[in-house]
Amino acid sequence: MSRPRKVHVKSFGCQMNVYDSHRMADTLAPGGFHETAAPEDADLVILNTCHIREKAAEKVYSEIGRIRVMKEEAERQGRKILIAVAGCVAQAEGQEIMRRAGSVDLVVGSQNYHRLPELVARAASGEKIVDTEFPIEDKFEKLAAPRRDAIRARGISAFVTVQEGCDRFCTFCVVPYTRGAEVSRPLKQIVAEVERLAAAGVREITLIGQNVNAYHGLGEDGASSSLAKLLRRLARVSGICRLRYTTSHPRDMDDDLIAAHGELNALMPYVHLPVQSGSDRMLAAMNRRHTREDYLEVIARLRQARPDLAFTSDFIVGFPGETESDFRDTLSLIEHVGFASAYTFAYSPRPGTPAAEMENQIQDEEKSERLQRLQAAVTRQWRAFNASFAGRELDVLLEKSGKLPGQLVGRSSYLQSVQVMAPHSHIGSVARVIVTDIGSNSLFGALADNEAAPQLTAAGA
Ligand code: SF4
Repeated sequence: MSRPRKVHVKSFGCQMNVYDSHRMADTLAPGGFHETAAPEDADLVILNTCHIREKAAEKVYSEIGRIRVMKEEAERQGRKILIAVAGCVAQAEGQEIMRRAGSVDLVVGSQNYHRLPELVARAASGEKIVDTEFPIEDKFEKLAAPRRDAIRARGISAFVTVQEGCDRFCTFCVVPYTRGAEVSRPLKQIVAEVERLAAAGVREITLIGQNVNAYHGLGEDGASSSLAKLLRRLARVSGICRLRYTTSHPRDMDDDLIAAHGELNALMPYVHLPVQSGSDRMLAAMNRRHTREDYLEVIARLRQARPDLAFTSDFIVGFPGETESDFRDTLSLIEHVGFASAYTFAYSPRPGTPAAEMENQIQDEEKSERLQRLQAAVTRQWRAFNASFAGRELDVLLEKSGKLPGQLVGRSSYLQSVQVMAPHSHIGSVARVIVTDIGSNSLFGALADNEAAPQLTAAGA
């Protein structure tokens, strides 16, 4: 009997890549591939790459170098390891990967993962393959559904990709080039996937997409469905008690989505809404197609619909042409909104994007000085946000055992990690917790009523 084959998938970058990695493993499972955490044990190593970070391609080549050493060692022992490169770097570099890294057997673009079983079989027989075309067929329709045991192993909180690609063309961003035009999955397909996840014990779903609130998938009535409609439908799936979505563009935050925040209990009051800059001049140079005022208006309307909403955002400092005055506009926007958290970046050019060609690039020292001031402002707000929970009661979705005996770890509605002493049987339920202490990375609490039965929350409005 031949030994079971093993696949190791290493994910770089965002949650969309983590989701894709799971779906690749699911798609290879019917062909006899089991997942392994050890690349040296694998018959197939897939590097699921990300193009967002600086020098992304160079980092992938150095990772390939490390796997090549394992491949050569395996060959000395009479065993073969196939190396596949997937994700955005695969999409962007294509044939160049084969030219520079002879040890790679397969390069597969982000729209072609459903073809993996066939591509891997061909690569195993010695063919070198680059498959980065954008196909006509629906990748999601053809990707294998995750098995129940795989879903359970991945926890009670799951990500579901509902939309891919982007039509917005911000001048700093590679996504429109690596992931292509916006494509949304049909609503029915997403509902079926969420129902399967819920039946296997998943309680929280985060809908993901590069521009998720531009979602416009085919609805059950044959018309295009908005993200708000999709959320309303998913809030009715039995067992799902929490819904989130990320990442959004302020221009796509429509009236119906804002209203959904006021209606749906299952929709968590925590919104990631990137603004990038507080300066209208910079927003125009970034081709964001909204002003500072537009952004502040969206925030105000969301707060009106749901007063307990908290926001996180993305900021880029040192974009080409940014002056001290532009930067101060960003700081003042932060003060005005009051964010619970934020991702902060010093601008770095991505090859092939318009901003990379702009002449008025900012010196590194200036960028890092602004980044420090930005991070200080954001950290102050993050600390104040967490401190405001001292002594308050929170809903906590209990996810897993903690480090101490009898301790469980869960997440608040605002994604804060909360540690609480509670019976193991409470995992998967939402508990009322009183916050007793604020740590640097976690909140600590006690069950509001120790005798209370776990509350398997009703989903929906
Ligand atoms: S909206 Fe987001 S994904 Fe689309 S181009 Fe802009 S930054 Fe990139």
